[in-house]
Amino acid sequence: MINSKLKTQNSKLRNMTVGILALQGDFREHEETLRRIGAATQPVRLPKHLEQVDRLIIPGGESTTIGKLLVLYKLLDPIRERARQGMPLWGTCAGAILMAKRIAEGRPAGQPALALMDITARRNAFGRQLDSFEADLAIPRIGEEPLHAVFIRAPLLEAPGMDVAVLATMGDGRIVAAQQGHLLATAFHPELTGDERFHRYFLEL
Ligand code: GLN
Repeated sequence: MINSKLKTQNSKLRNMTVGILALQGDFREHEETLRRIGAATQPVRLPKHLEQVDRLIIPGGESTTIGKLLVLYKLLDPIRERARQGMPLWGTCAGAILMAKRIAEGRPAGQPALALMDITARRNAFGRQLDSFEADLAIPRIGEEPLHAVFIRAPLLEAPGMDVAVLATMGDGRIVAAQQGHLLATAFHPELTGDERFHRYFLEL
């Protein structure tokens, strides 16, 4: 069962180029993870790179900085447009903040964001004491084994809209991974732990 699933995925992988927004943040770790599972990758720094990819990952980093760079490199509108046309898009941590339609404390006027997903992101939601931590999360959609997740100044995802599926929560129910059709957001960093299941899940979208 798993084997035949992997085989189908491998044949799909051959004709797929996964873009990774490479302006700031931990894009290299995503590249390495994708390379390990045999997917072709393309760092996206300019609009012409975006045209070469079938889907896009927005890595963790600093959402305010990435937002500004998206404007500077003229990528904000093209990415939004592609996503609206159905291109699968996955944001990890800062990337999830950029994808959220709403920010808990309000998005400062003029702060650029993709604002595509019907969810509220609460930045740095785990507080200063708990800057970074790790937790095992049950994520039925990617398999039975819990996923060991790394959180780094992570946001929480709140107030999911009707079309949003919750993929993972903390033990107390706070949301840390969600999906709205072809849009995927995780508060944690699957690219940092060597577990490729979340990347494979994204490639299936
Ligand atoms: N706290 C960061 C922000 O608000 C996100 C941290 C991360 O991507 N690891 O952008």
